[in-house]
Amino acid sequence: MEEVLKEAPAQPDDDNFLERPVIKENRAFLQGLGVINYIETLNREIRKYKSLLTKGLDIFNHTTIDEIMDATVYQISDQFLPSFIAFLWKPIQTKEDITIKAYKNYVPVNIDLHVDCITPFEKFFMEYPKPINFELLAFQLNDDDAVKPYLDINTEIAVPILGPFGLYGLILIGTKIFEDGYSRDELLFLQQLMGFVSQAIMNLLHYDHSLRDVKTGLYNHGFFLTRLNEEVYRTKRSSSCSTVIVMDVDKFKDFNDTYGHLAGDKVLETLAQVIKNNVREDDIPSRFGGEEFTVLLPNTDKPTAWNVAERLRLSVSEMNVKWNDPLPQVTISVGIYTFDRNTPTDVSSIIRRADEALYISKKRGRNCCTMWSPAIIKENI
Ligand code: GH3
Ligand code: MG
Ligand code: MG
Repeated sequence: MEEVLKEAPAQPDDDNFLERPVIKENRAFLQGLGVINYIETLNREIRKYKSLLTKGLDIFNHTTIDEIMDATVYQISDQFLPSFIAFLWKPIQTKEDITIKAYKNYVPVNIDLHVDCITPFEKFFMEYPKPINFELLAFQLNDDDAVKPYLDINTEIAVPILGPFGLYGLILIGTKIFEDGYSRDELLFLQQLMGFVSQAIMNLLHYDHSLRDVKTGLYNHGFFLTRLNEEVYRTKRSSSCSTVIVMDVDKFKDFNDTYGHLAGDKVLETLAQVIKNNVREDDIPSRFGGEEFTVLLPNTDKPTAWNVAERLRLSVSEMNVKWNDPLPQVTISVGIYTFDRNTPTDVSSIIRRADEALYISKKRGRNCCTMWSPAIIKENI
């Protein structure tokens, strides 16, 4: 026994195992027993799992949902060509709004899929948390209205994205372009790979939620301060300037008192959308607290910042809030502060100056913008 142990290499290589002299000498015997076939099958399985693990790790290495989706599509492209792959997810768990991103031929495209919610699938996937053939799912659900949009685009497989709060999203895979249906092995591969993908997307959704304000979906106060701090350091090392805009809803207490707190909440949600729609992808629109909002605009000088602030103010004064009873227009007052490496650049001074400018807008009669400057402070305070 000791002899055998001594002969064994410290780390046997699975692929070379069949090449060892002692195995080669006894190959016919082992073949007769079925041992060789068995080892070859195991080797194939090991290679499959190694490849799956590499693909899974690649997916976990990405830090945005878009990157994960791109990587998934790339990984699947190794194996076969589906007519489309679509990702549907709820960016905010407490809201039903669905975001859809679809790929055809591995390129992002608009897809003819219009769905308002994924709730009809939730109960099923909580009990059966696995990828499933869509026709089978449709049969199980027995809800023609819920499944029709998916059948219309020839969905073949649906994969759930699940988390502690229920169904977060779905990954849809269309019929194969060149061949018939998916084989058992391909379905198993998808099931295993999608296990990684849905977990990675769930992790990022959780992370994203921790940065956001629940009511409006904008970034929260904490994240705004973190990004502002980073921006302060960046401007110290560069010749560019950045801007903070603060906004406060005018006479909002009166609004709540007259139309109720729920109508007030709806106003804040709509206002958040207006802010989001009027700023760039790189800007950081946030809810600073209560009825006060901020936007951090990296790399933005005074004239541009003024235009953005005016555009925000006008858009809010024209915004349409969907409510049962007619509501009056609301307005905002705005303060703007642009900083660079020559101005005081600590977070609290920046916020204080933007707030001073906002205070002057209130003093000047509300529904207006004020750009902070030493002169304007001297005039007004
Ligand atoms: P001003 O023009 O000076 O800003 O007047 P204002 O009434 O807006 O200011 P004030 O600070 O007196 O009141 C702010 C109001 O905002 C009071 C508060 O009930 C309301 N508010 C803050 N957060 C929320 C919220 O989440 N939902 C609703 N509906 N109201 C909120
Ligand atoms: Mg306020
Ligand atoms: Mg106010």
